[in-house]
Amino acid sequence: MSRRHIAVVGAGMAAARFAERYSALGGKARVTLYGSEPRAPYNRVLLADVLTGRYDAEAITLPTGDADLRLGAEVVALDPGARLLTLADGATEPYDELVLATGANPLLPPIRGLRREDGGGLREGVHALRTLADCARLAEEAMDAKRAVVVGGGVLGVSAARALAALGPQVEIVHQGPHLIERQLDEDAAAALRDALLTLGVEVYLGNRARALTEAGEVELADGYRLSTDLTVLACGVRPRTALAHASGLAVGRGVLVDDRLAASAPHVFAIGDCAEHAGVVHGLAGPAWEQADVLAARLSGADPDARYPGSRPLARLSAGPIEYAAFGEVHLDPAGPDEDVDELRLTDATRGSYKKLVMRGDRLVGAILLGDLATVGDLARALERDDSHADAPLHLLTTTHGAL
Ligand SMILES: Cc1cc2nc3c(=O)[nH]c(=O)nc-3n(C[C@H](O)[C@H](O)[C@H](O)COP(=O)(O)OP(=O)(O)OC[C@H]3O[C@@H](n4cnc5c(N)ncnc54)[C@H](O)[C@@H]3O)c2cc1C
Repeated sequence: MSRRHIAVVGAGMAAARFAERYSALGGKARVTLYGSEPRAPYNRVLLADVLTGRYDAEAITLPTGDADLRLGAEVVALDPGARLLTLADGATEPYDELVLATGANPLLPPIRGLRREDGGGLREGVHALRTLADCARLAEEAMDAKRAVVVGGGVLGVSAARALAALGPQVEIVHQGPHLIERQLDEDAAAALRDALLTLGVEVYLGNRARALTEAGEVELADGYRLSTDLTVLACGVRPRTALAHASGLAVGRGVLVDDRLAASAPHVFAIGDCAEHAGVVHGLAGPAWEQADVLAARLSGADPDARYPGSRPLARLSAGPIEYAAFGEVHLDPAGPDEDVDELRLTDATRGSYKKLVMRGDRLVGAILLGDLATVGDLARALERDDSHADAPLHLLTTTHGAL
């Protein structure tokens, strides 16, 4: 009897983790990863470090257990009824179980002059940063660039700006929001981050939108101000890649809709990672992608056939050379302030450029932000996970194991 076949569409971070865990758990089926990129799966989170030259492309390759890798192999159609997938070269392949791990595409903002005149790809000098190929193109152009503009001041924009600054150009970030990374940081942490960027030579324009790229290659802001640039990087968020799922009749919201088993709306089809929407949430982060991959590997390998994905706690961590932060749990970004039953403890060290905040509900830790000094991140994550009482001395959570602040 032939072995069961698990086909994974996409060969990125979620797919690699699924394949590696499935093998480690002793799964018996044949697993194939179909990836449209020509590369073996790699750690996308480290792309900015590849850009700066800290790592070479090979160093960020991810393990995939015993899986077969079909690289440069785009899946163009699915037939969930017949359990068949079709590749771009017309070949069809049967599967027993299908895992969608197609990730996300960079979101292109509505900026005039962004595309080439023929309506094709992005205009020369304009880049997104999602793949190793993007990284290679960007690194080459950054060598000769004197000025660079990053559009978007979220995690990706900050990480790209820091990397570009290390390569030489003068970098400016244009961000529409009121402060940097507003989805994860509060105003004080964002201000400390802005100061840290300034010391690297990165200027930040807040509350402003890029509206056009001029003929002369400048970025024109909504207030009419123009920034001259040799290089423009778009970091305006991502959109889950759902076209394939949609065309094959699967239920799609913002992402491919999945339940706690990570099962999509058709039998034998699952979705994990940036393309999946669970309980109304599309995470777009590596941590949740891996947690989903772990649950699905446990189910499909038979190690824990009843494993369920309960959702992921908000946890974001950026490690961008000298700039580091972690934000997790409830960090109360509501400008109106936290709920009444919530206390916030903050420590700011302007000399060291560090900022720490704990959010307590009663005697329980429910959220934290650390910027510039992540020595306590492990202790905090564990305290949040264990839901222990910290009635006596919540401040000890802000100190390292050696007692230093
Ligand atoms: C520069 C950068 C920095 C980041 N930094 C952080 C960070 O600090 N922290 C964090 O948590 N997250 C970060 N992220 C996000 C993180 O990388 C993603 O959440 C993670 O990669 C999601 O994994 P995935 O497998 O769902 O998608 P991906 O890793 O994008 O993999 C999807 C793969 O599927 C392929 N594919 C799509 N459609 C098809 C098809 N039809 N056929 C075949 N192959 C297909 C794609 O080409 C791609 O290779 C960052 C992302 C970038 C780009």
